[in-house]
Amino acid sequence: MRALTWHGKHDVRVETHPDPEIVNPRDAIIEVTSTAICGSDLHLYDGVIPGLLAGDILGHEFMGRVVETGPKSTLKKGQRVVVPFTISCGHCFFCERQQYSACDNSNPAEKQDLSEPLYGHAMSGLFGYSHLTGGYPGGQAEYVRVPFSDIGPIVIPDGLDDDQVLFLSDILPTGWMAAENAGIEEGDTVAVWGCGPVGLFAIQSALLMGAGKVIAIDEYPTRLALARKLGAEVIDFKRTRVLEALMEMSGGLGPDAVIDAVGMEAHGMMPDTIMDNMKQRVGIGADSAHALREAIMAVRKGGRVSIPGVYGGFLDKFPLGALMEKGLTVRTGQTHVQRYTEDLLRRIGEGEIDTTFLISHRLPLEDAARGYENFRFNQNEWTKVVLKPGTEVAQ
Ligand SMILES: [Zn+2]
Ligand SMILES: [Zn+2]
Repeated sequence: MRALTWHGKHDVRVETHPDPEIVNPRDAIIEVTSTAICGSDLHLYDGVIPGLLAGDILGHEFMGRVVETGPKSTLKKGQRVVVPFTISCGHCFFCERQQYSACDNSNPAEKQDLSEPLYGHAMSGLFGYSHLTGGYPGGQAEYVRVPFSDIGPIVIPDGLDDDQVLFLSDILPTGWMAAENAGIEEGDTVAVWGCGPVGLFAIQSALLMGAGKVIAIDEYPTRLALARKLGAEVIDFKRTRVLEALMEMSGGLGPDAVIDAVGMEAHGMMPDTIMDNMKQRVGIGADSAHALREAIMAVRKGGRVSIPGVYGGFLDKFPLGALMEKGLTVRTGQTHVQRYTEDLLRRIGEGEIDTTFLISHRLPLEDAARGYENFRFNQNEWTKVVLKPGTEVAQ
């Protein structure tokens, strides 16, 4: 089969790989019909996530048709399914509490040994996201093996096309959980840093959860325009002083809740970002976290901080004093995708949520490297790239 593989910083290639096979009774093999490039794939592309090996297949947002099932899979050949990016057994201490991204059984023991020193405890396996999370081949490929296929994949009814449901695999539940973690109360003012896919879906979710005002912060005009279309007020951080603007727009109190949908590669010319980047360059790596620092400073006293943005390592210049003195609540985590898919699929089916506005480019799998390059370096026009294995022409 053909698959998108990682070979180093800014070097991804479509290569021929052996087809996946059923390994465990609960496995299924999926023929991928749509697979997206995620903002968090760019951390892999930029080479800032440890534990990737040359030749690893990337991709954790995918869906397709079931072509083979193990004897204990509950799926049937021919069914269309969306697969959550978190691999979860469904039966361990954490899965029973619906904390699927903390599953104890999906990250193999020898891989857990790699991530324990970094995090204290190993997290669940993830598709296509380095050997710290199990080294599972990802879904930017023609075929993929899905472990625990009786727990994760959600069957899609006829009548909903790929574009409408693909984002159930990650970014829609991630945006939803970001808003849930912000503990939104009716009429709240919520500020969202980053109008990438997760930020935009967090905006949409916050409004559905009753936020009175959502303020979106970004620098790219196209993204800010999408945020405005969803109903947010916007701040261009290149032109406006963010903290002052937020105070003004929240009646002098500060936002009730803030969401950092940027993560560890915050960029720009702020002094703290320049220091973070220099440290990354000389190899005493600190995550770059300007958005998070600013969010903590901006939020009102007693407010809530939600962090869906990805962080992988350590952070300095962290405003712990502001966090403590202001009495803030922080909630974060890799998304417990399986907890949300059914409810969100229903909302899509009923027309309450439409995520197709986000897709700017549809490319054949063979063009994946071009997709990565543009999604990384041309973010204003390339808001979301969907790869279509099995097609030959861009749409
Ligand atoms: Zn993703
Ligand atoms: Zn589990």
